[in-house]
Amino acid sequence: MLLNLFLFYLCLTILYSGTSCQDTSKYIKKVESILSDLKLSELNHSEIQYESCNLVTIGKNIYGNGFLKLDSIAAVNFFKMKEKAAADSIEFRILSAYRSFEHQKQIINRKLNSGQSIDNILKENTLPGYSEHHTGYAIDFLEDNKNYLSVNFENTKTFKWLSKNANNYGFYMSYSKNNNHGIMYEPWHWMFKNNVD
Ligand SMILES: [Zn+2]
Repeated sequence: MLLNLFLFYLCLTILYSGTSCQDTSKYIKKVESILSDLKLSELNHSEIQYESCNLVTIGKNIYGNGFLKLDSIAAVNFFKMKEKAAADSIEFRILSAYRSFEHQKQIINRKLNSGQSIDNILKENTLPGYSEHHTGYAIDFLEDNKNYLSVNFENTKTFKWLSKNANNYGFYMSYSKNNNHGIMYEPWHWMFKNNVD
């Protein structure tokens, strides 16, 4: 019942919220400025990830001091998936979902300030403007007793469950072993693919 009410609320949110809330050319300028600051010239517009305009809260973060958010369309499917997982005795623990351009910039800057090279940072993180987390469609899942992401996630019941069931709800693992994005294997990172658009 509660889930149905929530889904109804989400549908209203989707109906009454505009989809063109973002100024694309301004956003691309922000990305270009980061690339120029870092002396990186390559810019592939097709790989830019835009920030969600329709965020909804999906729960508190693991620290209990903030909220996790997803794009409303991904959230509807996430809640359906979560309900089925719970019926199979799987309880999701999530480290992060939506991340803004500014948040991604802070992550990169913190690592640069700690002395890491940009080449090394980009093996684990994407540049602001390129993270799938901007879209509000991506989720990073955690192991039961850990508060950090690890390849060991592939040995968990949650990973096995996701591998078998997540596709039914539109969620896919983005960075499999030896993926062609140049990003390390990330068994914890699952992205909703909206087949409607
Ligand atoms: Zn991720």
